[in-house]
Amino acid sequence: MYLHLKDRKFYEDIYDRVTVEDARRGMVHYDKFFLELKKKLPKDDKIDRPGNAILLNVFYMQTVGNDLLYRYENRERHINERMAEDEKKDEQIATARLTKEPYCHHCNRHGLRIIDKSLMHRGDHYDLNEPEEVLFMLSCPHCKKKSAFWEDGTAWKVKAIVCPKCKTEMTHKTTTTKMSFIFTYSCPSCGHSYKDKMDRSTKEEERSDPEYDKDRVHFCLEDKEFRDKLYGIQRGFEGMAALGKELKEKDDNKHIYDAMKEVKKPKIAELTPLLAPILEKAGYTEFSLDKPEMGRDVYIGFSCLDTKSDREDYDSRKTLKKLVDRALVDTNWRLMSDGINYRLGYLSGRIRAYEREEDLKKLVMQTKKLKPKQVSSEADNPDNEFSMDDGKGGRIQY
Ligand SMILES: [Zn+2]
Ligand SMILES: [Zn+2]
Repeated sequence: MYLHLKDRKFYEDIYDRVTVEDARRGMVHYDKFFLELKKKLPKDDKIDRPGNAILLNVFYMQTVGNDLLYRYENRERHINERMAEDEKKDEQIATARLTKEPYCHHCNRHGLRIIDKSLMHRGDHYDLNEPEEVLFMLSCPHCKKKSAFWEDGTAWKVKAIVCPKCKTEMTHKTTTTKMSFIFTYSCPSCGHSYKDKMDRSTKEEERSDPEYDKDRVHFCLEDKEFRDKLYGIQRGFEGMAALGKELKEKDDNKHIYDAMKEVKKPKIAELTPLLAPILEKAGYTEFSLDKPEMGRDVYIGFSCLDTKSDREDYDSRKTLKKLVDRALVDTNWRLMSDGINYRLGYLSGRIRAYEREEDLKKLVMQTKKLKPKQVSSEADNPDNEFSMDDGKGGRIQY
């Protein structure tokens, strides 16, 4: 009985052969690109100049390198999956049982013996994604003829070949030669006849391929040094892509980065000269700063006295907040959200400095109401296939 599951080496050989053949096809493109680039270079330029080398590396990775790394990384998984599939097929065949005992379709007698089981697609127009079913081949001990049945007892029917001229079912004869099978089809009605040939030698490995062993070691990345070199190039490109994305974002959102450059960053010592005169004019005296709290961010408490006797708690706090907010608006300092405390004309609060680029960016966008442009090129495209109208004319991105 034919078994699907074979030695691991069988799967490894197939996988490696595909790797080598894909890589060889890729190398044809690469070599052509290399020669054309070399031909086009001006006399004083050299193919190994860094600029040219990067271009060649990009092309190599695109045509060959990335695939080699992918196939190297997925070799085990892929082979395990193929083996599991074949093991499942064998199990399906081994556990299959005929649900009812069939009778011989030639002599109508019982007692047929199973001589083979195999997996096949059922139906005339079978779908390759549909699971295969077990077909039983039986032999009749009485008339010695063979018949085939599906697991549920349905007899297997030979798909009839009909004459293309008169639609009569054709008869056929098989001739076996050393190299091939020749099928001769003839029509018993109109006499039309034609031949079909099937090659017998399917063993491709027998074709001489003296470079194969060397190519297999190379393209299957068995050489660690070569493998690490490819990984290095791949990482380099990823780094370049990330840098490119960052530069593009800075360029797209130039209006935000320009606004960030305009933000004043007063030192702690400059805060009192900045705030005290403004507050003084509005009747808040003795402005002073506490010791700064230095954590991930810098916070500083401040206090002052309200000298206006007719200004009550709420008004005093609100006025002070407005003054501080306005005085700091062009700087990277902000009044903290915990607000301002008031007691008997003594006011206190805290301000905070925004120092990191990301924080500063958010601050500028909030203060100046700036919107970022979309970074992704897909989002730039209004006809993006991953978006749809939300019914109110708006666009939903997903
Ligand atoms: Zn029989
Ligand atoms: Zn015919």
